[in-house]
Amino acid sequence: MIRELSLRLSPEEAAGEQSLIRAVSRETGDAPETIRAVRILKRSIDARQRTVCVSVTLRAFVNETPEEPAFPSTVYKDVSGRPAVVVVGAGPAGLFAALRLIERGLRPVVIERGRNVRERKKDIARISREHLVHPESNYCFGEGGAGAFSDGKLYTRSRKRGSVERILSILCRHGASPSILSDAHPHIGTDKLPRVIENIRSRILQCGGEVHFETCMETLIIKGDEVVGVRTRQGAEFLGPVILATGHSARDVYRELHRLHLAVEPKGIAVGVRLEHPQALIDRIRYHRPEGRGDWLPAAEYRFATQAGGRGVYSFCMCPGGFVVPAAVAPEQVAVNGMSPSGRNSPWANAGIVVEIRPEDLTDPALHFAPASSPLALMFFQEQLEQLCWLRGGQRQTAPAQRMTDFMQRRLSASLPEASYTPGILSSPLHEWMPEYIVTRLQAGFRRFDSVSRGFLTDEAVMMGVETRTSSPVRILRDSETFRHATLKGLYPCGEGAGYAGGIVSAAIDGENCADRIKT
Ligand SMILES: Cc1cc2nc3c(=O)[nH]c(=O)nc-3n(C[C@H](O)[C@H](O)[C@H](O)COP(=O)(O)OP(=O)(O)OC[C@H]3O[C@@H](n4cnc5c(N)ncnc54)[C@H](O)[C@@H]3O)c2cc1C
Repeated sequence: MIRELSLRLSPEEAAGEQSLIRAVSRETGDAPETIRAVRILKRSIDARQRTVCVSVTLRAFVNETPEEPAFPSTVYKDVSGRPAVVVVGAGPAGLFAALRLIERGLRPVVIERGRNVRERKKDIARISREHLVHPESNYCFGEGGAGAFSDGKLYTRSRKRGSVERILSILCRHGASPSILSDAHPHIGTDKLPRVIENIRSRILQCGGEVHFETCMETLIIKGDEVVGVRTRQGAEFLGPVILATGHSARDVYRELHRLHLAVEPKGIAVGVRLEHPQALIDRIRYHRPEGRGDWLPAAEYRFATQAGGRGVYSFCMCPGGFVVPAAVAPEQVAVNGMSPSGRNSPWANAGIVVEIRPEDLTDPALHFAPASSPLALMFFQEQLEQLCWLRGGQRQTAPAQRMTDFMQRRLSASLPEASYTPGILSSPLHEWMPEYIVTRLQAGFRRFDSVSRGFLTDEAVMMGVETRTSSPVRILRDSETFRHATLKGLYPCGEGAGYAGGIVSAAIDGENCADRIKT
């Protein structure tokens, strides 16, 4: 017999299969030795009350052989000799577009400016060690895209655009842990993601597709009103309809589209800082336990949002047990982001705390920005702030930093706590050089977050500048039904860089959706 039941358990009971079997036995009266296995369908932590519980929905196999986890019956065909579709960018949008094209019997030809995920690791290490940013291979560029070295968080709010479960199952089929199918807040971890990405690449190649690294699209080849391929910097041409999945950090791509007079429009962004606390402090606050998370609970997370001065202030991409990382893509710029290993076991908790900026806000004098009358104006703003941050960080990848309490009191930090950011941090008056528009809203946000989570606003937390890459500053216009570019046939703007996704899963969904609409 297979029983499906929902239980509220202590963290310890929920932690292992044997303790789960005992809990099922207590609930159902079945003898423990008759319960051959349990499979968790959903698991979430309820930390709203003083006593933290874990809610588990599971399937118990009583005198029954357990089923193997079922992945979708996706059939990847041999597409050798089939019509080619050019996919620019091997981030989640591009890779999932390529897999979907194979399902449809089309041959993906993926071109990627960066290096393969293994080589990329070495380039990333050099940023911390030598303060050198490889302009084509870094935290944003290279196989796997911006999400390759990340927390690998897999939750999204864009469920209506496609099946999240399908994306998670495909990730499992390529090596991710099946636990992502049941966790309420699934994540893969930076140590595990590269293998999944390599497996996806192998699948594309085995099926007859192509993947070209260190191959940067320079421009689109346009004939009349149709895009018929791309030309690379080295002068090579790849012909076919084009899925443009170049992510939100490829500023040269936006510049090129603007030069070609393609329909693009400015899109709101959010900008701020990375904030890092000791993880133990966040555990004490979130789990309401002076002793912290103990042996059975995971590193605690948080998510905050409020309004200040008519604009959203919110936490972004929180990384429990993680590290702050240097996410710039050009040498004289500093931008920060966060990642976590699968065990989320570093002593730090970090998150972006960012302020919403809409295109019309660019004229606000408190933004300290000379607005350009261009659809790329918000991108110029991001770029200027990253350059300023580089100057303030000592013209290295060192991040300018300030204790949270000093920022509130507008004074330079006399000392800084130990931080996870390996290129190093440098005390700097963020309140002075960051735009006042952002400073006052961050201060209001911190006060409110502290009022709901006492102890959040603390001397032990350090802010690092700047968090600018939260989303695309530009939207490449496309038809909402055909996903084709607004004015050009043969071009499918895709993923986060095109302004239609924000995060790994939504980018992957958009990749599949674009591939579904390709006409050859
Ligand atoms: C450090 C970090 C941590 C993150 N953590 C998370 C997380 O935990 N969870 C989450 O959901 N999201 C996270 N994100 C965001 C997430 O990575 C992105 O939303 C997602 O990767 C967007 O997918 P994409 O395929 O649209 O674009 P990208 O992933 O940006 O991929 C675009 C690809 O195109 C390539 N490219 C660009 N220009 C060209 C060109 N001209 N020619 C050829 N190739 C080109 C790039 O090299 C890149 O590989 C994180 C981002 C960063 C930087």
